[in-house]
Order: sequence, then C-alpha cells, then structure tokens
Amino acid sequence: MRPARALIDLDALRHNYRLARRLCGGDDGGGRALAVVKADAYGHGALRCAAALEAEADGFAVACIEEALALREAGIGKPILLLEGFFDADELALIVHHDLWTVVHAPWQVEALERTPLPKPVDVWLKLDSGMHRVGLEPRDYRDAWQRLRALPHVGALVKMSHFARADEPDCTRTTEQLDAFAAATAGLPGESSLCNSPALLGWPQARAGWARPGLMLYGVSPFADPAHPSAAQLRPVMTLESKVIAVRELPAGEPVGYGARFVTDAPTRIGVVAMGYADGYPQFAVNGTPVAIDGRPGHLVGRVSMDMLTVDLTAHPQAGVGSRVELWGKQVPAAQVVAHSQTSSYRLLCAGKRVPLEYRG
Ligand SMILES: *Cc1c(COP(=O)(O)O)cnc(C)c1O
Repeated sequence: MRPARALIDLDALRHNYRLARRLCGGDDGGGRALAVVKADAYGHGALRCAAALEAEADGFAVACIEEALALREAGIGKPILLLEGFFDADELALIVHHDLWTVVHAPWQVEALERTPLPKPVDVWLKLDSGMHRVGLEPRDYRDAWQRLRALPHVGALVKMSHFARADEPDCTRTTEQLDAFAAATAGLPGESSLCNSPALLGWPQARAGWARPGLMLYGVSPFADPAHPSAAQLRPVMTLESKVIAVRELPAGEPVGYGARFVTDAPTRIGVVAMGYADGYPQFAVNGTPVAIDGRPGHLVGRVSMDMLTVDLTAHPQAGVGSRVELWGKQVPAAQVVAHSQTSSYRLLCAGKRVPLEYRG
C-alpha cells in the first residue's frame, strides 16, 4: 500500500478548542466558541472532528446547508451555524427542521424571512459589513434590518456579527477601524455579538467578547507569519502528513533532479524519492530547501514536486533509505514553515489535502 497518510490527533484538536474557548472567556466571562468545521474541517474530516468536539463544543459553523446536514445525519446535535446563510429561501424550511442557525448578510435574505412564515423560531446572526466588503449589510441598513427581523415572531435569538479582513496583521489599524464601525452600527441594539476568527481571537483581545468562530487555530496552525507570536505558540498541530522513501539515487556533482532540472547537484548527493506529490495536496511550488523531517531529523526538499512524488536530500542522512519515514508537516515540521517556502497560505495548505487517507488518534 502507498505509505502516504495524514494522522489526525483528536486530543490536539480538543486542546486547541479549549484554548479558543478560554481566550474568548468561555470559562467565566460568558464567551462561547463555535468550532468552524467547513470545507471538511479544513481537510481534517468534518464528521470525525465534530464528533470529537461534540461533548464540549458550544456549537459548530459550516459554509452551507449541505455541510450542516451531513453533520446532523452523523448524529451531531449541537447548534450549527450556516456562515453564508441560505442561498435560496427554499432552504428556510430545512434550516428550521434541522435546528440550524443562519447568517443573514443581505437585504434579500431579510425580505425572504419576512415573506416565509416558519413553524419554529430560527436563530439569526445578522452580519454587518464593517469594512471587509465581502458579505454583510451596509452600516446604514443594519439597524433597519435588525428591527425588521426583531419584529418577526419566527426569529429567535438575533446575534450581531461581523468578520475581519486583516486580523492576521498585528500592526494593521484596519481591525480597530472595523471594531469601531461595528460598535457604531450596533450601538444600543441588545443581544450577543460575534466577531472573532482565529487571528482575531489570538491577536486582538479587544475583539474577544461574545461568540468566537475559530477555524484554523483548531487545527493547530498559526494564522500569523511570525512564528514567535505568543498565543499561537500554545497551539498543538492536529494533522501530521507523512509518507516514506520509496527509492534512492546516488548522484555525482552536476546532475539535475526531476522535472525542469530545478535542482542540480553541486556535490555528490544522495536523493530520496518520497511517495507524496501535489495530487495529495503538497504544494507544487514548494522551493528547494522547504523543511521536512526524515526519520525524525530535520531535512529538506530538493527539486520540483511532481504529481505523486517529491525528492529530498538524504546526503546528511546516511542512515536513511528506502522505507524511511518522512514528515511533510505536523508535529516536527510546522505547517506554517512549509507555507513560508511555498506560494500558498496555511488555509489552502490544509484544505488542499486529497487522496491521502486520514487516520485518527485520540
Ligand atoms: C471561515 C470563517 C471563520 C473561521 O476563520 P479562521 O480564520 O479559520 O478562524 C470565521 N468566520 C467566518 C464568517 C468564516 O467564513
């Protein structure tokens, strides 16, 4: 069998969720955290991750009703928020039937709720565009939408919500501008608030009140470019992507390795071929020198990543050979380091996982 696999450490997932919940004040300050498990839990398997968190999570968040129904079918009973709301008014009946919570981010969704009587109240998270300019109501329309929804008997809790565009940039003033815009647009409106994604929760204490929506940090990957960011240091990586050396080449100086001869040996070099490629989700544009761990020791990638294989330098690893374990990212090689050597982001790195079987621990 092909040795490529992703080990998923569910104890680390629970550790990271508890950290998120502590940061938002979940132990004493009344804060709550929805575990974001959209996009198959950022490649970690939404059903298994949600099941692992079900006992302690305040709830879950997904992108769309298809993802929510899969969780319900798997027996997840905690609240589930639809982060993009409904795409069509037809979904409202299903949303109520399955006890889902929905974001409302556009005037047509407010109108749809007004036109559609529902058998049970639905909880609505009314989203403000506080400056990201993706989805959300304009500040000038927010209060009116809030009041119209509040007047509907089939709207239950009404949570005020927004989303940050640049919370992963510690010195950027945009996050405080968005906080101010949110405070101004929602002033005097009662009910709970929800602002924080992972970088805001980790890096912006002034945004933490109410319901947090951590995603990336649950999977133990820092959203910050700076590896020394203090709160990110408490995260534990959940996924370990690993495979094995399946062939070894002994090459003299001056020999090219792989497609396009991107790497040429400058001395006698031992090359290890690893069963892992971009079809598995490893970044195709990882550069020479991208870190890996070979039998537990630091090593690096050389040559262009191909679809099913990549090559590593074994010259400094004389004990390594066919069958040696290679970690691509995880406990020893932080995913953020791989990101720093590739033209990708930590979000995309995790979501790109394909073909590799997921094996769960904990
Ligand atoms: C995806 C998403 C999140 C989670 O963001 P992370 O940066 O992964 O923590 C939170 N809120 C909304 C609206 C999202 O779409």
